[in-house]
Amino acid sequence: MKIRAAVAREREPFSIEECELDGPRAGEVLVEVEACGICHTDLSARDRYYGTPLPAVLGHEGVGRIVELGAGVSKFAVGERVVMSFGACGQCPNCTAELPGYCRHAREFNLFARRLDGSSPISRGGQPITGHFFAQSAFASHAVAATTNLVRLDDDLPGALMTSLACGVQTGMGAVMNVLQAGPRDVIGIFGCGTVGLAAVMAAKIAGCSQIVAVDVRPDRLVTARALGATEVVDSASEGLGPALRHLRGLTLAFDNTGNPEVIEAAYSLLRPRGRLALAGLSPRGAKLSLDLNAMMVSGRSVRGTVEGDADPRSFIPQMIAWYRRGELPLEELVTTYPFEQINQAAADMLAGRVIKPVLRMA
Ligand SMILES: [Zn+2]
Ligand SMILES: [Zn+2]
Repeated sequence: MKIRAAVAREREPFSIEECELDGPRAGEVLVEVEACGICHTDLSARDRYYGTPLPAVLGHEGVGRIVELGAGVSKFAVGERVVMSFGACGQCPNCTAELPGYCRHAREFNLFARRLDGSSPISRGGQPITGHFFAQSAFASHAVAATTNLVRLDDDLPGALMTSLACGVQTGMGAVMNVLQAGPRDVIGIFGCGTVGLAAVMAAKIAGCSQIVAVDVRPDRLVTARALGATEVVDSASEGLGPALRHLRGLTLAFDNTGNPEVIEAAYSLLRPRGRLALAGLSPRGAKLSLDLNAMMVSGRSVRGTVEGDADPRSFIPQMIAWYRRGELPLEELVTTYPFEQINQAAADMLAGRVIKPVLRMA
């Protein structure tokens, strides 16, 4: 069928083009896309950071309605509304352990943006276009999505706000809930207050952390962080982290989503004995940490990475929806919507920090 899709080409703005989309294969569905968030991963892929082959249709926070089922799909029906989360095979050891972020085939689906047989459902004028990004490629009027991490969405939920549950908000909340397992005794530091960091602040509030310290270089983000539950904010552009946080006597937990090695080392240095630091930011290629190993050993501190907050979207997205319904997840504080045609403006606004989470509306 003919679709409208935002095509990414090297060193060019996205261009909205008419493309050809094949029907869904076994285990896939055709989704009429209603809205899709823009995540930094989309722009990193456009800029060839991951080796995603261009031209490509990106977009991995799609919400829409199923209009056709592929062979063998029995858990979903035509007409159902869904959130499309990241790609995973559903069968490898980490997938069966409900840790699909670490799927054996994650790079194929999510970065190389292809099915396991290498194919793409999207083409233009007979030329293939990379079109299985995070098993969806949802910067388009329609997407062929894998059903592995598809999650049903009730009709009354606002689609534009639900998009970021697919990746950005899931990553921040999952890091706090699943990876760090924050609780009422914790003093948590959150480094970087974009969508992921602000979602982490919301999660820390839900978890009842005794102190929630938000760190960023933008005063406006710190205002938002405070409104969402941060008990302390630090403008690291103007204040030293150590002096600003001395009265806390260290952090029990820390979450970095800046990917900046200097920030990560500073966050680590603020951990109390047995403190834990989780990393979810994209670092410069080849970046390394320099940590004093003996001090790490005797203090029992630890550092670990996480993808998608270790979440299984099939259980974690419904959990986040429940928090949203209880008023504990004010996603409207993060989201700014744009018509699909304004994708380049939306991306520019995100990169400049003028908006937190831009969401494109296709319908
Ligand atoms: Zn897998
Ligand atoms: Zn993402």
